[in-house]
Amino acid sequence: MPAYDPNNIFAKILRGELPSHKVYEDERAFAFLDIMPRAPGHTLVIPKSPARNLLDVSSDDLAHVAGVVQKVARAARTAFDADGVTIQQFNESAGGQVVFHLHFHIIPRKEGVAMKPPASAKEKPEALAEHARKLAAALAAS
Ligand code: AMP
Repeated sequence: MPAYDPNNIFAKILRGELPSHKVYEDERAFAFLDIMPRAPGHTLVIPKSPARNLLDVSSDDLAHVAGVVQKVARAARTAFDADGVTIQQFNESAGGQVVFHLHFHIIPRKEGVAMKPPASAKEKPEALAEHARKLAAALAAS
């Protein structure tokens, strides 16, 4: 497996070199909105440690990130009045991974509403800001 590339987009977001719509942060994990959401509220949760994907992350960091995934998924259900939540995670190009810093997708779902195809459209920054605000508020209340 190739080495971790510290110049991947999510590493730049973690260093504050690129903007993001932050939803949650603690000492070991960061959550922000996907810029091309497959449904409103589509969030990405990443570890702060330099892990390429599930195959090289430490089990401690993975366990911590899994806890944050659950916390954000519960908040997403409340904030978006979701009937369900889809969690996705891809490893290496053959596994569908495009950005090589470990991330979990959290996608709030409505009964009978299909997800948009991956990378179909960039969401407006105003909509992302509003969705991040709703999620952060639900997290704060949890
Ligand atoms: P994948 O590696 O296949 O899980 O896909 C990477 C995901 O990152 C896609 O859903 C993209 O829409 C998303 N993405 C790419 N660049 C950014 C960015 N700058 N901010 C937020 N999400 C991004």
